[in-house]
Amino acid sequence: MKYNENNKPIICMQTQSTCYNSGQRHTIKGILFHSTGCNNPNIKRYVQPSDDDPNREYLLQLLGVNTNHNDWNHIYHEAGLNAWIGKLADGTVATVQAMPYEFKPWGCGKGSRGSCNNGWIQFEICEDNLASPDYFNAVYAESVEFAAYLCKMYNLDPMGTVDYQGVKVPVITCHNDAAKLGLGCNHSDINHWFPKYGKNMDTVRADIKALLGVATDTTIKPVEPVVEPSNKPTTPISDATSDELYRVRKSWNDAKSQIGAFKVLDNAIKACKEDYSVFDSKGNVVYTNKPQTSQEEVESKVWNELLRVYKNEFGVAGIMGNLYAESGIRPNNMQNTYERKLGFSDESYTDAVDNGLYGNFVNDAVGYGLAQWTFWSRKEGLLNLCKSKGVSISDLSAQILFLVREINANSTVRNCIVSATSVEEASDCFLTKFERPADQSENAKVKRRQFSFTYYNKFKSENSGSTSEESQSAESVDEKSKNKIVLNNVACYATSSDKSPYSYKSGEYFLWGSEVINGKVRITTKEEFIGVNGKVTCWINKEDAK
Ligand SMILES: [Zn+2]
Repeated sequence: MKYNENNKPIICMQTQSTCYNSGQRHTIKGILFHSTGCNNPNIKRYVQPSDDDPNREYLLQLLGVNTNHNDWNHIYHEAGLNAWIGKLADGTVATVQAMPYEFKPWGCGKGSRGSCNNGWIQFEICEDNLASPDYFNAVYAESVEFAAYLCKMYNLDPMGTVDYQGVKVPVITCHNDAAKLGLGCNHSDINHWFPKYGKNMDTVRADIKALLGVATDTTIKPVEPVVEPSNKPTTPISDATSDELYRVRKSWNDAKSQIGAFKVLDNAIKACKEDYSVFDSKGNVVYTNKPQTSQEEVESKVWNELLRVYKNEFGVAGIMGNLYAESGIRPNNMQNTYERKLGFSDESYTDAVDNGLYGNFVNDAVGYGLAQWTFWSRKEGLLNLCKSKGVSISDLSAQILFLVREINANSTVRNCIVSATSVEEASDCFLTKFERPADQSENAKVKRRQFSFTYYNKFKSENSGSTSEESQSAESVDEKSKNKIVLNNVACYATSSDKSPYSYKSGEYFLWGSEVINGKVRITTKEEFIGVNGKVTCWINKEDAK
């Protein structure tokens, strides 16, 4: 075992993040693996020391500096993990603890049965482009070492299961497996990556068990990559003597699209082109070759397309925060409460509408797609647009186009998206003038503003924001020191509109900027952070800024 009481992972607590400050604790039941879903193996992208971390300089050297300030150690980040695995500044692979393990993570989201966020310690493995066996072997070995260390500390059985929310959940699991049990939102990590290199959650459990079984140092044996498509089914391939015939078609009813019929399932799968499926002789789908679009790609496409139309980053962020609240920005998302009622999943509902097997799409009042379109005339409009383009109702481009048409047809909404001068303004406007959900409370507004902020910070261009480097001219330096304030147990808010503080601050701070929103101003810890995006400590009441 690599880690023990005397050799702990690197500690860099993310005390400035919303999750860290939520005060939520959990009773530890297991460990859940994530991987990030985007190509950036460096831990510094996500983890940076807090402004007041006593080891700040050391940690910055060790992790490297995120010059984009888009790390997750900020009040507007909704997600929070207990640890991260990836590359340090010198390129070595390591684990960094980001929150105490008893702190409840905001990692895997919610499914129909609940969430593994209550009980499973969670960490993210930073993904590279998924093509390097060396990097995979290094992070795989590190993740198994780290999980074994946690198992020992919390007396967890790596091969065990826990009865939770009516299902048996493995002590050691991953985001994708939790989602399949209805205990997380629909993500594919880590099952889209580990199997490329012959690994999966079963090998993870066995390797943890092996580590726990031996007291002395052991290392995980690296593996050669397996050359197989990653989305192959894991069920055993049937033998050649079977009477079953596997047909490859676009859809079962579309016999003309058939590419071939095969006795051996493996051969049918090999022949299955993108957007085609393999059907057994009864017409059941055995395998589908759907091009995999990552959530990251979906979100950047939505951002880029909307920005092209509205040319205002505040406005686009406000739209996206609301879309996130509605659908998680997943174009095939069907309103969750109807999934069980109608006996459909997001995928099967979409397929049934596309294939014409389900004819009630327009009138069933089930929210669907990016904006969770529900009213019959809007669903009809979406359906007609997709039909006219010959694409699925879940087609992302078609849904973006439909959304833009709807926004443009409503001049109030369009105007506030184009002319918004803050993320809050755009987010509130889109909520109350466009989405108009039943819940338009202050709480709902705050929640959506936070989502909108997350997108703003994720996608905004480098030069946006009111104070770029150049605009800080030499003569304004004197101005800066006037921004110094001394606080004495002053209420500190996560957003300008929060009613209750998340902590209280005393000591020397600086006004981050002069803008007053909802009677509050932003503060920061150092003079050089004034006006720097991502360096806001919190909001305080304007009267307290003396
Ligand atoms: Zn995940």
